Amino acid sequence: MNETKTILLEKKWEEVSGYDENMNTIRTYQVCNVFDNNQNNWVRTKYIRRRGAQRIHVEMKFSVRDCSSIPNVPGSCKETFNLYYYESDADTATRNSPAWMENPWIKVDTIAADESFSQVDLGGRVMKINTEVRSFGPVSRNGFYLAFQDYGGCMSLIAVRVFYRKCPRIITNGALFQETLSGAESTSLVAARGVCIPNAEEVDVPIKLYCNGDGEWMVPIGRCMCKAGNEAVENGTVCRACASGSFKPTQGDEACMQCPINSRTTSEGAINCVCRNGYYRTDSDPLQMPCTTVPSAPQTVISSVNETSVMLEWMPPRDSGGREDVVFNIICKSCGGGRGGCTRCGDNVQFLPRQLGLTESRVYISDLLAHTQYTFEVQAVNGVSDQSPYSPQYASVNITTNQAAPSTVSIMHQVSRTVDSITLSWSQPDQPNGVILDYELQYYEKVSLMQQHIGPFNTVRSQTNTVVIRGLKPGSIYVFQVRARTVAGFGRYSGKLYFQTMTEEEYNTSIQEKLPLIIGSAAAGLVFLIAVVVIIIVSESNIIVALSFFQVTPGMKIYIDPFTYEDPNEAVREFAKEIDISCVKIEQVIGAGEFGEVCSGNLKLPGKREMFVAIKTLKSGYTEKQRRDFLSEASIMGQFDHPNVIHLEGVVTKSSPVMIITEFMENGSLDSFLRQNDGQFTVIQLVGMLRGIASGMKYLADMNYVHRDLAARNILVNSNLVCKVSDFGLSRFLEDDTSDPTYTSALGGKIPIRWTAPEAIQYRKFTSASDVWSYGIVMWEVMSYGERPYWDMTNQDVINAIEQDYRLPPPMDCPSALHQLMLDCWQKERNNRPKFSQIVNNLDKMIRNPNTLKAMTPLSSGVHLPLLDRSIPDFSSFSTVDEWLDAIKMGQYKDNFANADFSTFDVVSQMTMEDILRVGVTLAGHQKKILNSVQMMRAQMNQIQSVEV
Ligand code: AMP
Repeated sequence: MNETKTILLEKKWEEVSGYDENMNTIRTYQVCNVFDNNQNNWVRTKYIRRRGAQRIHVEMKFSVRDCSSIPNVPGSCKETFNLYYYESDADTATRNSPAWMENPWIKVDTIAADESFSQVDLGGRVMKINTEVRSFGPVSRNGFYLAFQDYGGCMSLIAVRVFYRKCPRIITNGALFQETLSGAESTSLVAARGVCIPNAEEVDVPIKLYCNGDGEWMVPIGRCMCKAGNEAVENGTVCRACASGSFKPTQGDEACMQCPINSRTTSEGAINCVCRNGYYRTDSDPLQMPCTTVPSAPQTVISSVNETSVMLEWMPPRDSGGREDVVFNIICKSCGGGRGGCTRCGDNVQFLPRQLGLTESRVYISDLLAHTQYTFEVQAVNGVSDQSPYSPQYASVNITTNQAAPSTVSIMHQVSRTVDSITLSWSQPDQPNGVILDYELQYYEKVSLMQQHIGPFNTVRSQTNTVVIRGLKPGSIYVFQVRARTVAGFGRYSGKLYFQTMTEEEYNTSIQEKLPLIIGSAAAGLVFLIAVVVIIIVSESNIIVALSFFQVTPGMKIYIDPFTYEDPNEAVREFAKEIDISCVKIEQVIGAGEFGEVCSGNLKLPGKREMFVAIKTLKSGYTEKQRRDFLSEASIMGQFDHPNVIHLEGVVTKSSPVMIITEFMENGSLDSFLRQNDGQFTVIQLVGMLRGIASGMKYLADMNYVHRDLAARNILVNSNLVCKVSDFGLSRFLEDDTSDPTYTSALGGKIPIRWTAPEAIQYRKFTSASDVWSYGIVMWEVMSYGERPYWDMTNQDVINAIEQDYRLPPPMDCPSALHQLMLDCWQKERNNRPKFSQIVNNLDKMIRNPNTLKAMTPLSSGVHLPLLDRSIPDFSSFSTVDEWLDAIKMGQYKDNFANADFSTFDVVSQMTMEDILRVGVTLAGHQKKILNSVQMMRAQMNQIQSVEV
């Protein structure tokens, strides 16, 4: 800052006008007493206020005459002068005070001219002007005076500028520094603290600058930067909020950025942009990245089924949602196995490489059930799918698995052993993948301690899961392995198990223990004969003991009617295991039985795995007779052990309600299961079911058990489509109650007329041969997917029709070989009907040679007259196509027909398979049903026409 002051003249200094170098007029103070000795001429400034400065700078412009240029000048001539200052808190100086001398005055310097001048024009007014700057400090009083001392020179003082230095107010590094005065010494650095400008924040602290002696800022420390949502403008001196549509996510020097695609800001100064509706960002997505959305469905899923595995491949979605992290999830549903609809697949289904989060467009799925329909949904998901309120888009594919060999038998145990035999039993494979035709047991003697097999392999086949191996050596170890066989072939052998025959010694001891019970004979065959006789003549306890001793031998076990026991409770105790109620957990009611509700639940027996069971309960308020009748079913069921006969787990009789607990059959009764899955199975699957029922019936017939009520409603189906004979209740045959129209009272007992052989209806001749008749009806029910036998004919009409040799016609699409088997079952002469063993063999042959199931033309039989197929009604009894569609149970396609203009019988009767497809009938079963009905309509029209002609 400049400060020019008028200079006070003292003694010889005089104020004169002159010219500067540019010939401008100026006023100067001059002195030039070179010819006088002892000069001491002072000139002093006015009082100068300090104004906070600590160091004062003085710029002097002056000119000095060169002594040598002055003729005859004495030696005392000077070419310099002295600069002094004097500090004072007030303007107190007078003419005499302070005294004109160093101390009180403080000398700053002796000032010499850089250039002196020797020539003067005539006026003496052209000079060389020198400029010198000196400074002094620290100064601390309110003000000061300056003085110039001439001691014998010739000079003029043209201008004196007095100033101090300061660093200006400045915004730098995002901070504001206020004006700061330089320090007392020229080398001093004065520290100044900065303050962040609005919307900036400190990055490094402290925020400092130093003001040097020249009034320059230097050595910056720390800095401030614009906050997120603000950008630096105007050379970094202002932090301005980001304009709308732009954002700045962090503090820093960067500029605001435009919002990425599919996002927007809600106000100025945004630190991020929010995604538009339907677009999302994951936590790890950078804010600069466009917002993304869910992917579209995968395209064209292709499946290739191999037995019980399937390879699915698909094309990636058309729209990845703008992301690169699309992966695929597979949802597996098995359809047609449940009670209508589809259910999620169980945990046992394997997915390779995995089920969820697939990065490639393919997956290999194995361990599916054989002969089962599956729907696979291939979902496309990406990083933002779980933010979308909608479930992922998917493409689905329906497949039906083929046949496959059964899985391995996992549990085998020894039932009993003698010196030369071992009786083994094992569980069904977890995944039979069809009907188990038989098991093959392989064994050999373990002759050395080494694992290796040395002796010959022996194999035994068994149709049940129990076998007796005879002809073994006493006290020897044998190695056993078993495998199951279905139409698809053998499964893998189970792991090896070692069992040992008894030594002679062990045998003798065991015989001695049993001897008193065997009623006097040691030969097995003989004992069996005696046992059969004993059933009739000796006391109950002996019968049971004799039977239980032999019951491990197949073919020898005989069913015992619980009502032959004096006390039927005894039979319950004998054949049904008592279960403690604490082991049973009821879950939900699944049906209504004769005596009370049927529930599903869990059974956890000590030391065994928890299992899913069906629980039949006896409703409260029962009579003793009802309780007996209810439990009689358990006493019967408890005597059976066959994969196609419902298995009794036990009874609860010691607490209330009384319960019968059986294995759980997921798909419920066969008739309703078939109705719910109309047209959904292959003929082989249907024959597989029939084979199972026949096998169960063969077992029952071998046990001398006559069922009397074999019907699809009394067959239960599990999740593997295995059919099991159930419903062994006797009561309905005994009571005279005709409230249920299925059962008609005859001769004191109720008879299901449509299922029952004529001799059984007429004179109650119930035998396994009459069960075979019923089996034929079950075959018809199965092949027609649960149609009611003889439709709406009355019971009396049925009896009359049978009497006149009319028989049910083949259901739609029923192979003629099967209808022929039905007709065989419906032979009037019961001895001409096939035995269940023959039926099983016959069906096995069909399964092995599926070609025999191709022929569909009904075989004409001289004996049996087919009834008109009542499942296809006469179209002429309906006035509209809609009514006709309702009658053939295809009412759901009314709109499809109408929209495609198939609205008169004339047009409908001309429909081809292509037409049926075109109107939108996609289910194969429904297509066939409609085509058959159309063909029937055509035939009926032709008949009408020919009658008219
Ligand atoms: P029932 O008294 O045997 O005729 O049984 C009545 C109904 O309960 C049947 O039609 C089935 O739907 C159901 N039910 C009976 N037993 C079982 C079982 N073991 N598993 C599943 N459902 C069953």
